[in-house]
Amino acid sequence: MTAGKIDGVNALGGIPAVGERDVSPTGDAAAMASLVLHGGERQFALHSSGSDVRRAIRLRATRSAAYKQVVDSETKPTSYIWGGLGFRYPIASTRGDLDVIARAGARLWQVLGLTGADALVSAVPVTATAEHTSLQLAALAAGAPALFPGDDTDAVLAAARLAPPTVLAVPTAAAVDVVEAAASADVLDRLTTLLLVGYPAESEREAAVAAVNDAASRDIAVLAVHAPAGARVLWGECREAAGRGRLGGTTGLHTYPDLDLVQLVDAETGEQVTASTGELVLTQLGMRGSALLRWRTGDVVAGVEFNACPACGRTVPRVVGTRRGALVVTADSGRALDLRAVAGALIGRADVEDWRVVVGGRARDGRDQVVVHLLSSADDADETVVGAAADIRAVAGRLPSQLVATDVDALAALTASVPPEAALTQRVLLRG
Ligand SMILES: [Zn+2]
Repeated sequence: MTAGKIDGVNALGGIPAVGERDVSPTGDAAAMASLVLHGGERQFALHSSGSDVRRAIRLRATRSAAYKQVVDSETKPTSYIWGGLGFRYPIASTRGDLDVIARAGARLWQVLGLTGADALVSAVPVTATAEHTSLQLAALAAGAPALFPGDDTDAVLAAARLAPPTVLAVPTAAAVDVVEAAASADVLDRLTTLLLVGYPAESEREAAVAAVNDAASRDIAVLAVHAPAGARVLWGECREAAGRGRLGGTTGLHTYPDLDLVQLVDAETGEQVTASTGELVLTQLGMRGSALLRWRTGDVVAGVEFNACPACGRTVPRVVGTRRGALVVTADSGRALDLRAVAGALIGRADVEDWRVVVGGRARDGRDQVVVHLLSSADDADETVVGAAADIRAVAGRLPSQLVATDVDALAALTASVPPEAALTQRVLLRG
């Protein structure tokens, strides 16, 4: 497939969706360098706006150093964030990309109902991640004072004493602890907004809402911001949806139609789906460092809404019902198992008639385990199990907790034992 064949959104759908394991089956971050564009003068002339190109041509004739600077700012990768679910890999940005991220940040600020008069304290780890970088650039572009003391709670409280925040940004998993600590330290007098960084599960949102309600007698909006794995900008929930009452209502994550194209694929096969649920696939438009085309994010979403937001009226596509990183399970050991690779291996075997993958807490200690139940069409089911295990190890880099051969009735009983809303895909099931 050549670049010339991609002449619109429909043609883009013909590109196979790929994720991190497709680029690097072994989980080697260095392989991701193949996604970094190496643009030069020719690419600059192809993709930049007419006025930029004219300016560059003028500079080329008169001041070659300035010319190089203009071309480099659009084509030379200079800063990197680290992303990924199963393993960490760098995502490159050019100087021009950082401008795009900052401008998206200014828009995020508006979606969140914040202004330059708001003051942010962030408890997000100060590392090169999409979350930290885009929060920092968002505050900068919105002209809002912001402190980034890191994720140490004492440091966060010290910063909040110094500059009492109107906005507190917290990694979702740490939200309750940070809010409780901040409430006991009495630094939430000015707080109007709690930002949950990383899309919360229903229970996480409820816990965060309960914590702010305990912490303050005023209305505090609890809003989620989220960057899927591979993304460089944060999407946000609009304040209008959460603002009324003391509950965290939501109409979904508001995307930027000029910067990202959101599509869904079947999480098991990677094929385009028209059904409402599926894995979120992201194409970043107008960014030149790393090229993420039809990137499989590992997020399972309940759908993408294209109608005007019922709360704020914006007509941008909204991603609803996000389960962040659901398709990559991380064990206590820190090692990750990519369920997409597991499904791919099982679909690829002719002797596997049907299968289910069950992800869930072990009753004994609550740790996540992944059990693969196989229905073999071969005479020797044990052979199928051994073969499937080898295939899974080859494409996923490690084995699930358990592989077991099963029969038709047991498979049906297994499916029936899990409520439909706990199904991540048709054959990948979650157990509480
Ligand atoms: Zn809205």
